[in-house]
Amino acid sequence: MKDFQNYHPSPPSSTQSNPPQAGGLVDGQGRRISYLRLAITDRCNLRCQYCRPEKGVSFIPHQEILRFEELGRLVAVFCALGINKVRVTGGEPFSRRGCLPFLTRLRKIDGVQHLHITTNGVKTSRYLNELSSIGLNGMNVSLDTLDQKRFWKITRRNYLEAVLQTVHGALAQGIPLKINSVVLEDTRDDEIIQLAGLARDFPITLRFIERMPFSGTMRSEKLENGNLLRRLKRIFPAIEECTATLPTTARIFALPGYKGTLGLIQGYSRLFCETCNKVRITPTGMLKTCLYDNGALDLKSMLRTGAGDHEIREAVVACIHNRFKNGHEAERFSNRETEPSMAMIGG
Ligand code: SAM
Repeated sequence: MKDFQNYHPSPPSSTQSNPPQAGGLVDGQGRRISYLRLAITDRCNLRCQYCRPEKGVSFIPHQEILRFEELGRLVAVFCALGINKVRVTGGEPFSRRGCLPFLTRLRKIDGVQHLHITTNGVKTSRYLNELSSIGLNGMNVSLDTLDQKRFWKITRRNYLEAVLQTVHGALAQGIPLKINSVVLEDTRDDEIIQLAGLARDFPITLRFIERMPFSGTMRSEKLENGNLLRRLKRIFPAIEECTATLPTTARIFALPGYKGTLGLIQGYSRLFCETCNKVRITPTGMLKTCLYDNGALDLKSMLRTGAGDHEIREAVVACIHNRFKNGHEAERFSNRETEPSMAMIGG
């Protein structure tokens, strides 16, 4: 078995018939792709109401999930094409045994300049020393409320203390931290104000996220059409939008007296597609070039039928060239009869 720690993909073939890549991976709209999100598992120790049903969750059989060696090989191939930022996500990445050694090995792959993780923070505090020592470039922790009862209601688990331990531990270790908070129909203003208090007191970005219509969650008038932005402006009249460093999914706002910033991710409105620089690999090895597509390339089949790096590379280049213009177009062309869970995609 190949040790991907020392894995260097073969150079691009000169006979490549795909559109030429002028200095990296560029899609048909001219967007440069430099960011890969890897969902390494569909397992999670929370059951967030907007992501998963409480009971009857069916998990992907282990043999269908990419092995760490396969994931590592793909990361090396993507980096050779111009990816320089990798985010490990899930499911909950730390629900998969071996996540930390995997991150350590990813760090050593040529081209992985920025290594990030998205976690629910439940088990993460025990790994913070190592995460800091491998030079993790950033951690996103998902936390939708600071209220114990609401945390239970949203996640159906009682782990708020453990998540807060991760948040404070990461701050103490100096790991750059963002907190992602999905705003639900019944999220109260005082919860938003409490969460924003973390950005007032600590140098973090607290990003409020529009709930997206995944996992069978209904579309909602209340959450649509820029309502969250209007709401934030009402609650925090002094917020001032900062100039964006492109490409970005979040709009960032400063508030007087805050050590950190507030963010807004308009995933529902899909206002950031024009500058989207990311692609995703699902736990079963499906390449998604848009959050809303059905999966554009079956990388697992390629890996498991003996495809060489150059074949994978050419397939990826072609697939990215044919990427949808935006999330609305992707959704129109996708089969949305069975709404996927974010846990299968990685958010
Ligand atoms: N377990 C990790 C975590 O909790 O951060 C990583 C995976 S989780 C699927 C990634 C992100 O997707 C989380 O911030 C979560 O809140 C978000 N998410 C899941 N379902 C969503 C939905 N329907 N709308 C908006 N965000 C969603």
